[in-house]
This record gives sequence, structure tokens and C-alpha cells, in this order.
Amino acid sequence: MAYIKIDRLAYEYNLDLIASKAGGYQRVICVFKDNAYGHGAKLLAPIAKAKGINFVAVKNEAEAKELEDIFDNILILSHHPHGGENEKFIYALNEKNDIKKIKKNTKIHLVIDTNMHRNGILPEEIQEILYELRNHNLQLHGVMMHFAGSDEMDASYFVQKQKFQYAKELIYNLLQEDAKNLIFHSHNSEALFRANTLEDDEYCRVGLVQFGYAYFSKDLHRVLSLWAERLSQRILKKGQCVGYGGVYNAKEDIEIATYDLGYADGLLRYDGKGDFYLPSGKKILGKMSMDSFSCENNGETICVIDDANVMAEFFNTISYEILVKLSPNLKRIVV
Ligand SMILES: *Cc1c(COP(=O)(O)O)cnc(C)c1O
Repeated sequence: MAYIKIDRLAYEYNLDLIASKAGGYQRVICVFKDNAYGHGAKLLAPIAKAKGINFVAVKNEAEAKELEDIFDNILILSHHPHGGENEKFIYALNEKNDIKKIKKNTKIHLVIDTNMHRNGILPEEIQEILYELRNHNLQLHGVMMHFAGSDEMDASYFVQKQKFQYAKELIYNLLQEDAKNLIFHSHNSEALFRANTLEDDEYCRVGLVQFGYAYFSKDLHRVLSLWAERLSQRILKKGQCVGYGGVYNAKEDIEIATYDLGYADGLLRYDGKGDFYLPSGKKILGKMSMDSFSCENNGETICVIDDANVMAEFFNTISYEILVKLSPNLKRIVV
């Protein structure tokens, strides 16, 4: 049966590196959304907790519920208010019209739109929004923003940083003593590794870098690898084809095998065009099927992903997409 291997030491190593840049584990919010980027949220959570992480961010309440017994602080990033918000969780406020829809006393992190224009309120609206939050008895626990291009070498990172600084100062001024317990966070993976340190009053909020990928750092370890097991093997004779549409045609007799992993497991579908090499150097032969693919025989098992960038480059996408699409139904083991 195909499976995902999670390398515990690699994960712990990456967390140590993140914490050293952030100034301690207490200043790291681990983003665990979408099954921890396909790695398995419930599997990684106890490892992160044992390291000293006690703050995670997830997509929605269902994801938060899965982790509620492990972490004290869970921030929900993409919430649709329904008036029955859970007092245990913290909700990102992405839209000012949501203030009146959220249950009283709910804990909030206010999102500031510092130029990404995806979510949040403008710095100019802060005064009015703080007033409204108080009016509706919502508990402001934190203030956050998101970088649009922390991995792009342009000035946008600095423009956004400056806007957030302005927002912070405004909030400090308006709230005075009440601002003392607020948590501010802006840096995602690339921003943290680009900045190398955090402002004294900030936490970071990191996703991908936990799993060993960062444009700005080579000093990380990949956490996930994907493996498939052999279903069958045969000699493909010169001139014979394998798979749907017969797009691979053997130029000479070749020993091939079929492995139990396909696009239903969340892989992008290889259509038999271009050379796609697996980590062991074997080439996928013909189109990938729903639940299997064929390649040169590699023995009983074969590694399909040990670095998501390889597949990402082939399909002209990013490592995030390759990882997050891996089916939650795949077996995951920690080694
Ligand atoms: C996904 C996400 C992150 C994590 O981003 P990485 O680039 O994976 O570190 C942080 N903040 C928000 C709001 C996100 O949606």
C-alpha cells in the first residue's frame, strides 16, 4: 500500500531553526491548515507540542476541533461567522462586516490589509474598527497581516512592513495599557527567513518552512517522502505499449513494474509527455492511471517524492500545491 513517511528528526530540526530565528518557541505560530500542508496535522501536532509549540493556525473550525486537545491557542484563518463561535478558539477577522455576526466575547485577531488586498481592514479604518469591536464585546487578542511577496526580491516586503509598523503604533496609541497583551504577527515562512530575526513585539506564523522548504534557506530538511508499492511486473517487449492510450512504446525489451499510486492519491496527472524521473532515476512510462503508474522496475517499493520541488517544476507549479494535494487517505507513518 502506498504511504507517506514523515521524518521526525527532520521536522524537529526545522522547528529548532525556526524557533532560533523567532526568538523562542513561544513566538512561533505553526500553520497547520489543510492537514499540515498534506503532511498529517494529527501526526505532527504532538511532535510540535513536545518541542514547545502551543500556538497553531488552521483553516476552519473542523480543523481546529481536531487539534483542540493538543494546543491551547488555535487561530482560525478562514472563518465564516455564524454566531456560535467557540470560546476556545481565536478567529481571524478578515472582513469588517463580520463584527456584528460573531458571537459576543469571541477572541479575535484583527487582519490589517497592508497592500495584499486579499483580506482585512485598512490602516485608516483601525480607529473605527477598534471602537466597533468594543461595542460588540469582541475580545481583541492579536493583530496580523500577510505578505504578498515575501519571496520576491522587490520592495513590496518593505512597503508592507512599514504599513504594519504604522498600524501597530496607531493601535498602541489608541489602546494604551490595553495594547500590552496584544500579539502581533506578520512573518510567514519566507519573510522570517528573509528577515532572519523578528521585531521584539512580534510572533511569526509559519507554514511551509516547517516542512523543509524555503527559497531563502538551504539549511532545512525535507520532512515528507511519498512511497509506492509494486502491484505487478513484466517484460514489455520491443514495440509494445503500456497504459492508457499506449503513449509509451518500448524501443527495446524492458523490465517494467506497476506501482500502487495514482492521481486519485492527489498526484498531479502525468500524461506521458516529457521525461518525468523519480528520485531513483527511473522514468514513469506512459500516462499515470487513477490508482497506479508504470515505470522501469525498481523492486518492491519506489520513492515518488522526496523533494516536492521536482514535481512542482515539472508541472509548472509550487511545492505547496504538490504537498497539500496529497490525499488525507494515504497512510502516514512517522519514522
Ligand atoms: C498559509 C498562510 C500562512 C503560512 O504561509 P507560509 O508561506 O506557508 O509560511 C501564514 N498566514 C496566512 C494568513 C496563511 O494563509
